[in-house]
Amino acid sequence: MPFADLPTWPPGLRTRIAPTPSGLLHAGNGASFLLAWQAARAAGGDVLLRIDDLDAERVRPEYIADIFGTLGWLGIHPDRGPADAADFDAHWSQRLRIPRYLELVDRLRSGGHLYACGCSRKDIASRGATEGYDGHCRLRGLSFDAPEVAWRLRIPEGTTAQWTEWAHGRRSLDLARAMGDPVVRQRDGRPAYQVASLADDNDFGITFVVRGEDLLPSTACQLYIASLLELPDPGAATFMHHPLLRDAGGEKLAKSRGAGSLRALREAGEGPEGIHRLAEDLLRACGAGRIS
Ligand SMILES: [Zn+2]
Repeated sequence: MPFADLPTWPPGLRTRIAPTPSGLLHAGNGASFLLAWQAARAAGGDVLLRIDDLDAERVRPEYIADIFGTLGWLGIHPDRGPADAADFDAHWSQRLRIPRYLELVDRLRSGGHLYACGCSRKDIASRGATEGYDGHCRLRGLSFDAPEVAWRLRIPEGTTAQWTEWAHGRRSLDLARAMGDPVVRQRDGRPAYQVASLADDNDFGITFVVRGEDLLPSTACQLYIASLLELPDPGAATFMHHPLLRDAGGEKLAKSRGAGSLRALREAGEGPEGIHRLAEDLLRACGAGRIS
């Protein structure tokens, strides 16, 4: 089903393609990019390329180059964002926006929504918390200025987030059940993903977010943070959470240096037709209501 035949485009659709340069892109990344690109074309909107390089130690120049190579190969030409690696480095890197992210973190702290956490990953695992964080430091009253503490957002019991899911209408998620209190400032003082992603979507006026369904808790979390910060129209964006592509063994695809990368396909002289077909499959899955 082509995009143009499906309902409810938000007015002034503005979307983004937001790869993380932490590995070579795979077919699932490519199909997701195509969904955003095709949505913008169908709606007369525009696409921002936003490379999420906040986790700087995992970034490599070859991964940045792979993003531009992949977009060109897929026939995607973003309307805004970096034109190439040098432009990205000079003008669009998230490291240039760290003061903005930290400003939002400080507003959360001033509002009493954060607490300091001294737990390492190992500490959390040793307490038997299998997923996320168990709230161990919520009531410990650790100083925010103590060394080696992360700052976490307190998500009160019963916190739910609501949003518009494309082609489905309103959707909600019990955030407190979906996610342990997330880190918003890391031990080394850097801002964390949830705040950066929200800040960028908000500041760049994004109205349509395409992402994998594994990020449903992140969507809920970011909308909750937006409500705490009273950001303009936090609920105004429409979201499309698409199913994840899985390999033959049922595992979700992961970025890698391996043979399953889109770069390997390009180097083998293959065209993007297969990725276009995957994007059609994902779109059908979303439009047909099989979101999760
Ligand atoms: Zn802790």
